[in-house]
Amino acid sequence: MLKGRGVSVGIGFGNVVILRDEEIKITKNKVKDVEHELEYFNKCYNDVLRETEEMIKDLSGTELEIMQAYLIMMQDPTLTNQTINLIQNEQYNVIYATEEGFNSIIDLFKNMDDTYMSERSFDIKKKKNRVLNRLLNRKTINLGKLEKNTIIVAKELKTSDTAKLNYSNVSGIITEIGGSNSHVSIMARNHAIPAVARISDITKILRDGDFIGLDGQTGEVFVNPSEDEYQMLLKKKETFDTEKVELEKYRDIDPITADGYRAEVMANAGVPDDIDLIKTTNAEGIGLLRSEFIYMDSPTIPTEEEQFKQYKSVVMQMGEKEVIVRTLDIGGDKELKSFDLPKETNPFLGYRAIRICLDRITVFKAQLRALLRASVFGNLSIMFPMIATIEELREAKDILEDCKKELRSENIDFNENIKVGIMIEIPSAALTANELARECDFFSIGTNDLIQYTVAAERGNEKVANIYNKYNPGVIRLIKMAIDGAHQAGIKCGMCGEAAGDAHYIPLLLGLGLDEFSMNASSVLRAKKIITNMNKKDCEILANEILKMSSSTEIEKTLKK
Ligand code: PEP
Ligand code: MG
Repeated sequence: MLKGRGVSVGIGFGNVVILRDEEIKITKNKVKDVEHELEYFNKCYNDVLRETEEMIKDLSGTELEIMQAYLIMMQDPTLTNQTINLIQNEQYNVIYATEEGFNSIIDLFKNMDDTYMSERSFDIKKKKNRVLNRLLNRKTINLGKLEKNTIIVAKELKTSDTAKLNYSNVSGIITEIGGSNSHVSIMARNHAIPAVARISDITKILRDGDFIGLDGQTGEVFVNPSEDEYQMLLKKKETFDTEKVELEKYRDIDPITADGYRAEVMANAGVPDDIDLIKTTNAEGIGLLRSEFIYMDSPTIPTEEEQFKQYKSVVMQMGEKEVIVRTLDIGGDKELKSFDLPKETNPFLGYRAIRICLDRITVFKAQLRALLRASVFGNLSIMFPMIATIEELREAKDILEDCKKELRSENIDFNENIKVGIMIEIPSAALTANELARECDFFSIGTNDLIQYTVAAERGNEKVANIYNKYNPGVIRLIKMAIDGAHQAGIKCGMCGEAAGDAHYIPLLLGLGLDEFSMNASSVLRAKKIITNMNKKDCEILANEILKMSSSTEIEKTLKK
């Protein structure tokens, strides 16, 4: 049995698929059999072409248009001329010739003044890697087309990988690194997929096809489990499934405490597929739509029109229910291919989220205009992430006002009363909540980041995982300040960090007066059950007791009692 850290509860059985992201090693040598080398290049190149043609058959809309453009680009002989030349005239081996040949074209595009053309270099790089993988006979895994009951095993899953995953066929995730607040864990919980993180060298220990049973609570992983182990896991799975059925009765119940306090329970969404999942829980809305999904894996920054279509579709699917869309939040642990962000020594403290948007105003405006246009099709609110200063909030609102003016002059409809809120995930924002609250319509506390910035411990770093702790009294006091600041200004305070869905934390948050709890879809029904069975007055007494404590351990013990 292997043991890691359980990051998404549940029991999963299935067969292993390992995602390897080894660097492609480029060897350079001269060859004698030039003809053979050329023949091999042509064969592999044509295989990739054929695969692309096959792939296109299942596509439609924008995706189809993009792939058709890829195909045309691949059929253009200029793309391969230099590679062929390096083999034919310089007798270089096919791997080196491909790397160099394609790189010369990539550089050519990269250096073009036209942004659209220079961004095409990303497409060519992708193609180069596909051809190299083919030449090296390396299998690439299509995350959208996995076999049923797949257990994904990887060093780490990138945010862009999780966006492509066909979750219905995944029965477990195991990674070497990451913690309970890394994005893959959040996504796994959202889709109720059991996940275990932090098993060193798991990608080397396991083999593709191994049968695995895993427990996402205890972090145990059984490779080819014995009959006893299998039965033990099966029993746990049955208990888990029974609880799930029992929770169903809370679907249509309003979360009102026994003494009449009405809380709101909403859900977080990260990819469009989450909307279906959220609808099955009957959550009261989307408290956080991570808009990064629109930009993910796209070689170029999506246009206003492309974004508008996606936001419109989400708000229409949610009907009258509120959808809070967070504007682009990249940087830190969230990379985007199309942005080509500079490497930084301290990415979490650097150029990210609203800081990028206030710097790249054209990108920001395209998103804001798309959101405003979509606002007439449902109940859409806008939320700015990573606000540290009141100036940032004012600047972001000014840009939003500019967008509104532009739309008015273009006679394009939008909701004139659209609500604008901010995330409270930086201590300075919590500490100045009183002032910030007077200039926006709502708060949503992002504990995932608030914790890391309060205790100066990175959210995914296992070495400091003991310090990254939601029970830290400093974190709890900042949460209280945010809630009190919001209430003094008469605005709503929600929470969309992972703590909002934590069964042990909910009574404390109720006691502190949180209005809205937004969480993974898979936690919604349990949260409704907890709130319904609580007494607000008792929670307030508990919160007062907790606020007097100075030790995280003591707080955790009290809340888990
Ligand atoms: C947070 O920081 O709590 C949050 C919800 O944002 P994200 O996890 O996307 O950084
Ligand atoms: Mg955050």
